[in-house]
Amino acid sequence: MTDFTLKTDADGVAVITWDTIGKSMNVMNQQGFTDLDALIDQALADDAVKGIIITSGKDGSFAGGMDLNIIARMKDSAGDDPARGLFDGVMAMHGVLRKIERAGMDPKTNKGGKPIAAALPGTALGIGLEIPLACHRIFATDNPKAKIGLPEIMVGIFPGAGGTTRLVRKLGAMAASPLLLEGKLNDPQGAKRAGVVDEVVADPVAAAKEWILSNPSIVKPWDEKGYKMPGGAPYHPAGFMTFVGASAMVNGKTMGVYPAAKALLSAVYEGALVPFDTALKIEARWFTNILMNPSSSAMIRSLFINKEALEKGANRPDAPDQKVKQVGVIGAGMMGAGIALVSALAGIKVVLIDAKQEAADKGKSYTAAYMDKGIARKKATEDKKAAVLGLINATTDYAALKDCDLIVEAVFEDVGVKAEVTKKVQAVTGPDCIFATNTSTLPITELAKASNDPANFIGIHFFSPVDKMMLVEIIKGEATGDVAVAKALDFVRQIRKTPIVVNDARFFYANRCIIPYINEGIRMVREGVEPALIENAAKLVGMPLGPLQLVDETSIDLGVKIAKATRAAMGDAYPDGAVDEVLFWMADQNRLGRKSNAGFYAYDDKGKRLGLWDNLAAQYPVADDQPDLVTVQHRLLFAQVLEAVRALEDGVLTDIREGDVGAILGWGFAPWSGGPFSWLDIIGAPYAAERCDQLTAEFGDRFSAPDLLRDMADKGQEFYKRFATGAKAA
Ligand code: NAD
Repeated sequence: MTDFTLKTDADGVAVITWDTIGKSMNVMNQQGFTDLDALIDQALADDAVKGIIITSGKDGSFAGGMDLNIIARMKDSAGDDPARGLFDGVMAMHGVLRKIERAGMDPKTNKGGKPIAAALPGTALGIGLEIPLACHRIFATDNPKAKIGLPEIMVGIFPGAGGTTRLVRKLGAMAASPLLLEGKLNDPQGAKRAGVVDEVVADPVAAAKEWILSNPSIVKPWDEKGYKMPGGAPYHPAGFMTFVGASAMVNGKTMGVYPAAKALLSAVYEGALVPFDTALKIEARWFTNILMNPSSSAMIRSLFINKEALEKGANRPDAPDQKVKQVGVIGAGMMGAGIALVSALAGIKVVLIDAKQEAADKGKSYTAAYMDKGIARKKATEDKKAAVLGLINATTDYAALKDCDLIVEAVFEDVGVKAEVTKKVQAVTGPDCIFATNTSTLPITELAKASNDPANFIGIHFFSPVDKMMLVEIIKGEATGDVAVAKALDFVRQIRKTPIVVNDARFFYANRCIIPYINEGIRMVREGVEPALIENAAKLVGMPLGPLQLVDETSIDLGVKIAKATRAAMGDAYPDGAVDEVLFWMADQNRLGRKSNAGFYAYDDKGKRLGLWDNLAAQYPVADDQPDLVTVQHRLLFAQVLEAVRALEDGVLTDIREGDVGAILGWGFAPWSGGPFSWLDIIGAPYAAERCDQLTAEFGDRFSAPDLLRDMADKGQEFYKRFATGAKAA
């Protein structure tokens, strides 16, 4: 059995059907390419065959793309000279697709050859579109649910099987840029409008057959003499503008840290200056360059392979299905309203409780407003809105919680209030109901004391805004049982978010790592480091927000509150007095961040951020001597990653995959790096430990290398080898 089969009908049309064994959607692997190649040879050599259709045996889809597990391992399996091995492998792939494109034509006269059409029954992504682009005509089913495009850039690579070169030559650089640089996907009609597919029809195989039998011309424009690229090549006045603009846009958006976008643009620019076959070779060189860059495999590993493994329950205890039927959300404030929304969107019945009916109604109105926005953007309908709202019962009556199988409490951050709510809820819910708290700072084990069954008590920590943030941190208290963990994981799966499971400790995992990042930024302000240098250094290393902007967004008084509580808990060991000096001073000036239209940044009356606040220098003068960029970046990155390593050492994290995925989705840790542990693997433990020593000598003990890192440095180990994927870290 192979993934590709060939059948020739009585009219001489050979249909090659792609049907990956054991998968619901076709994915490409090396064997698949070999098989496709052999069938193309066979059909081209067979005199009885007039033309070829490449289609799929799967309902509603052509192909989902290349198997990313293979791409992530390509470098390791490319032999002793991996760059050469990768380049040769990519060129072999080009060979197959170029054979399809030339289809037996005479190389000089372009005469002869057999028409080859792609018939797409639906979704066609990545290599699943690159193969059709090599065909002479693309027919797609009129299926509005189908997605057609080249999303490679989203996982840190770019279309490297000719998709980049062909799409630019077909559409021009300007029109191809959203499809290549942003990975924009279209439905079939949209793909036709964009010029990606040629025809949208009811039956693509029948339409392709009719086209083949019409004896069509099949020479690609770029194989004709005198071909001119739509919109102009780089030295054409219009093309020049496109390339200058694209280069600026890519650098502005990626801050230079995503190698794939830059490599893609280089392949497009350089490819546009040379004949087609040379352009393919250039594309292959840049693609090899990207596959050799550790960032691409780290991104694929964290953002695709491990993220999916966690979503599928990699760390789920062995317990029966815990799908949630009815959730009770207590506290209809900012978080509760969001939790109710995402639950109802997933079709779960919600009882949304607040102390006053008005507050409960206000919480529910968040869902109404969200659906209205969807309707305005044509992503939802009035009927859908009514159905979603119909699932939410906003009330003050705790008795309504009787049939809930999960409670998520999101009331004020106060042990007393939470304890009282826990008791009130458990007076009405059944013995199997799992009680979860959304606390961000209070220990789960402590809060569980108010529960009548600590085994059924757990933390489910959402991030704000709930509807946008994809990470959910599940926290086990000392007594939390397996069923509660399974319940939390099954709930997170229902609402289509990504879970990590951590043990109970101050600030759990995400906040534990992000607070040192913010603090390091504030510390530098006090030392006289130019605030613009701090912010730009963070962005130039891939952080979505600089530490000063981040504290403005989360609010400076929250920082003060957390600092006071931490100091009270830690006593003399509290290390952040220098940070508090700045933070408390800002709070005294009533500069509380975005919410007060004043913080480390200045804002206009409407809340628009204008720029860094000029007067900060009056209190914290900028020093004459400024540190170099890398020192600032290392201070900001090491502050986070060392905390991640300590969380692993302490057993808060038990799986480095969760540490990496959680960091990227939870607080936007430099996604190009694959996460804190991937970054440490990229720079290597020996260098990381050495850098820790230098930073400690210059800036203090908070940078001292954790024992685990020191041990790994001595042994020359990598995190992803020491804690092999899937293996528990602690
Ligand atoms: P909020 O002040 O917006 O909402 C709290 C709601 O709880 C209010 O509507 C209040 O009326 C209600 N409430 C208070 N006491 C109640 C009671 N006894 N019975 C019923 N309702 C009651 O607060 P929030 O930002 O939504 O935070 C809620 C919880 O989520 C806190 O534990 C907080 O630490 C946590 N959290 C917040 C964020 C965030 O970014 N805001 C992020 C993660 C977790």
